[in-house]
Amino acid sequence: MICIGIEGTAHSIGIGVIRNKSGLCNVLSNKIKTYKPETGGIHPREAANHHAKYIADLIKESVENAKIDFSDIDLVSFSQGPGLGPCLRNAATAARALSLTLNKPIIGVNHCVAHLEIGRGVFRDCKDPVLLYTSGANTQVIAFAEGKYRVFGETLDIGIGNCLDKFGRNVGLDFPSGPKIENLAKKGRKYLDLPYTIKGMDIAFSGLLSTSEQYYNKKLSLEDICFSMQETCFAAITEVTERAMAHTEKDEVLLGGGVASNKRLCDMVRTMAEDRGASFFAPSIDLCIDNGAMIAWLGFLMYDSGVRMDIKDTVIDQRFRTDMVDVIWRD
Ligand code: AMP
Ligand code: MG
Repeated sequence: MICIGIEGTAHSIGIGVIRNKSGLCNVLSNKIKTYKPETGGIHPREAANHHAKYIADLIKESVENAKIDFSDIDLVSFSQGPGLGPCLRNAATAARALSLTLNKPIIGVNHCVAHLEIGRGVFRDCKDPVLLYTSGANTQVIAFAEGKYRVFGETLDIGIGNCLDKFGRNVGLDFPSGPKIENLAKKGRKYLDLPYTIKGMDIAFSGLLSTSEQYYNKKLSLEDICFSMQETCFAAITEVTERAMAHTEKDEVLLGGGVASNKRLCDMVRTMAEDRGASFFAPSIDLCIDNGAMIAWLGFLMYDSGVRMDIKDTVIDQRFRTDMVDVIWRD
């Protein structure tokens, strides 16, 4: 079965084409175009306009790149939520148009669940992981329990990527600032105290963000601040991930989201996994960031397990929670 997936929850519009191959996800193509605001943060309407401008060409490009014809497509899936309303609406509209034109079924999927399933889809040994999902807008520790993907811990305020991007914006770094902060952090030597905020299994980053900005205003070394930010927020999410693994007695950890391209974060989580005798999985970065292939793969899993949707069921849901999905494709 060949499925095309349309991702459009936030800053990126992604079109992926996948094929199911012996129970694993074979990515045939995965094209992404990212909106970068000239100033400030993501403006939902401008991001949506960006997606609308590129979506048709990107669909064509991705289908060509997959070396298939439109007539080979068996299923259309799209990110139904959570995300920014205008962006979600454009992705959903494109998916509906494609489904009706090709006369093929349509499935709306949960974006966060797609981040987890793509890891299980590309690694045969990744069967029942705890997912550490760290992206711009989201920071969640997710694992399967009793028929649903449950959120064991998450941010109480902003996503970890937003925290890094916001700090970067206020100190004059380009968007996205995560990679720039990673580079600066490599030259940091001194750990500066930052709030380490964990409440139960949840975390918060805004105290760390404002303290980092205060350090910058006091002209402390930017390298040291970046180093300290990374050490602090990565340690906190690694701690929550480890506690989720201990609680659920799972012995696999999987990374997802754009922040997973950070080497220091990978090293910290890998070390934690090794210390516990657990397996560590990090998909290639094009499958960690928001992308269409993961949406296509989850669409396939749902369709294959019997889920069906009519156009009337494809209304977007900005607040689509991870644990609202009945995970009927797993035992
Ligand atoms: P996503 O929302 O999953 O597409 O991921 C985008 C987020 O990942 C942005 O907030 C980026 O700043 C962040 N990011 C990308 N690369 C890195 C990196 N090397 N280190 C930290 N954050 C990163
Ligand atoms: Mg994401």
